[in-house]
Amino acid sequence: MAGVVVVGASLAGLRAADALARSGYGGGITLVGEEPHPPYNRPPLSKEALLEEQEFETIRLRSSAKGGAVTLVTGLRAVSADLARGLVRFSDGSETAFEGLVAATGLRSRALPIAKPAKGVVALRTFADLLRLRAELAGVREVAIIGAGFIGCELAATLTRLGYKVSVIAPEDVPMLRPLGEELGGALLRHHSAAGVEFGLSRLPMAIEGVERPERVVCDDGSSFAAQLVIEAVGSATNTEWLEGNGLDLSDGVLCDERLSFGGGGRFVAVGDIARFPNLSFDALPRRVEHWGIAVDTGRYAGKALGRLLGSGEAEAAFTPMPAFWSDQFELRIQSYGMPGLTTDPAAIRVLEGDLDGEVVVGYYREDTLVGVVLVGFAQSHMKYRAAVAASLEADGTSA
Ligand SMILES: Cc1cc2nc3c(=O)[nH]c(=O)nc-3n(C[C@H](O)[C@H](O)[C@H](O)COP(=O)(O)OP(=O)(O)OC[C@H]3O[C@@H](n4cnc5c(N)ncnc54)[C@H](O)[C@@H]3O)c2cc1C
Repeated sequence: MAGVVVVGASLAGLRAADALARSGYGGGITLVGEEPHPPYNRPPLSKEALLEEQEFETIRLRSSAKGGAVTLVTGLRAVSADLARGLVRFSDGSETAFEGLVAATGLRSRALPIAKPAKGVVALRTFADLLRLRAELAGVREVAIIGAGFIGCELAATLTRLGYKVSVIAPEDVPMLRPLGEELGGALLRHHSAAGVEFGLSRLPMAIEGVERPERVVCDDGSSFAAQLVIEAVGSATNTEWLEGNGLDLSDGVLCDERLSFGGGGRFVAVGDIARFPNLSFDALPRRVEHWGIAVDTGRYAGKALGRLLGSGEAEAAFTPMPAFWSDQFELRIQSYGMPGLTTDPAAIRVLEGDLDGEVVVGYYREDTLVGVVLVGFAQSHMKYRAAVAASLEADGTSA
């Protein structure tokens, strides 16, 4: 009998394989990843792994499955899958049959379609990217980061702490606008600026000029930022091409039901950054959630659900996690629970405790329901506010 193939050997895939092994599934579990490395943790890449020049072993993820329960294959890319026949094909021409499939192929960095020199322009998603970034930093004084999302902001903080002169260029008028909103984004802008980061906001980069390496980034308002190294932190694309041809909705990741399954029957599940699923605690709209914690939770849930289905034939209850993310920038620990991004109306974003330019707790409301909180500092209050979001969602009854 064919076993389960987990495609994508990173956080979500590893946690799914481990949970499947723990469920007692005995049909054979193969975890296949394109990268040459075993699974590792990505959050340190923009933080301590760069700051402290950590080696790979420091960020490596360990399997919790008993020895031999999961077979890891690295350096092998899935190129296509035939769900009806239960076959996945790989870049070396081999094929593997499966009775269950976990799609865990995550994201890849996007690059801007603008003129740029061949060297000195990088992105950060993988350990190989980190090695390239470290090498490219040699002899550099000024770094321009394009993009003011969480990876762009974390890199700005880390590189400033390492002594580089950093500028951040982005179309929004404050950093991390989508996850934080205007006011808290404004406070973050003041914090970064006071620490020495230069911002070129409300403008679009039009070209990275330079002969062999970058010399400056030129923007649509005529402004320019000197840089010998440019980091593009402008979002990502989903790695779903290998699933094409199966009649799936792959328009933004893999469209799943509330049990993370796709393609019907429950034997195919998607986990981590590529899974687009409805979280009925909030509403029925399927969304992708690019958080470390969701990669863990989706992996654990889907591995267990698959084990149950392939074992006893029973289905798990719907997956209704509490999303959470953190970000470290300078000495700030930013922690979020729920889905603050659901609130776009500035009037529905309120300071619950503290002060925007110090430690603060901000609440994000949808009508009267607290759908998310962001804490800057207030480490001792994390569980209290997480519980407040959960209680408010339950009282709202969307999940009923
Ligand atoms: C620099 C950085 C910093 C971050 N910091 C934070 C943070 O502070 N807090 C937070 O909550 N989240 C953070 N995240 C997000 C978090 O790391 C991700 O949510 C998490 O890694 C998602 O895991 P995943 O397993 O779904 O996907 P990924 O980690 O993207 O892994 C997917 C894997 O699949 C492989 N793959 C792709 N296509 C194929 C194929 N066809 N065949 C085989 N293998 C394939 C890829 O090579 C990759 O190894 C950060 C991410 C980055 C990049």
